[in-house]
Amino acid sequence: MSKVLVLNASYEPLNITSWRRAVVLLLKGKAEQLEQHSRAVYAGFQLPTVIRLRHYIAVPYKEIPLTRRNILYRDNYRCLYCNCTSDELTIDHIVPRSRGGGDSWENVATACVRCNIKKGNRTPREAGMPLLSTPRRPHSSLYFEIAKQIQSGVNKEWRKYVIGMQDMEEELEAMAVAEAG
Ligand SMILES: [Zn+2]
Repeated sequence: MSKVLVLNASYEPLNITSWRRAVVLLLKGKAEQLEQHSRAVYAGFQLPTVIRLRHYIAVPYKEIPLTRRNILYRDNYRCLYCNCTSDELTIDHIVPRSRGGGDSWENVATACVRCNIKKGNRTPREAGMPLLSTPRRPHSSLYFEIAKQIQSGVNKEWRKYVIGMQDMEEELEAMAVAEAG
């Protein structure tokens, strides 16, 4: 059934909910309707697709922990040097730790054992092994979910409420191409 994007009073995306839950929030006066489907729930009441809470909810910022699992997930379980999907994926420090490279989203890359050994204690440039994409801090799972919804074509009107969605969609497209290829 159709999903509804819930925005905080500040217009920041907060979560995705069911249309039933969204309708309850609207009926209780806790939210206002920003976007709607052409289809009506019942006469005179359009199905919402984007709603905004009337009162601001403080949400603690959740840092995505830099773990092996999350790094592999970010890199779509592919070696960032040769694009292979090996069973034995490792985490490579792009600038090696022994040379001052730190533990950060920007300095770690998923690498197959072969590439990791080949690269050794060198930077990608020294090893002549350019990264296939620039490692970045991943988007939150909410943004990921929103991008998927927009791409499915069902909730295109969500796009204007989400900053940086363009990058996210391009990432998803690249992933889809990689999977197909
Ligand atoms: Zn590799």
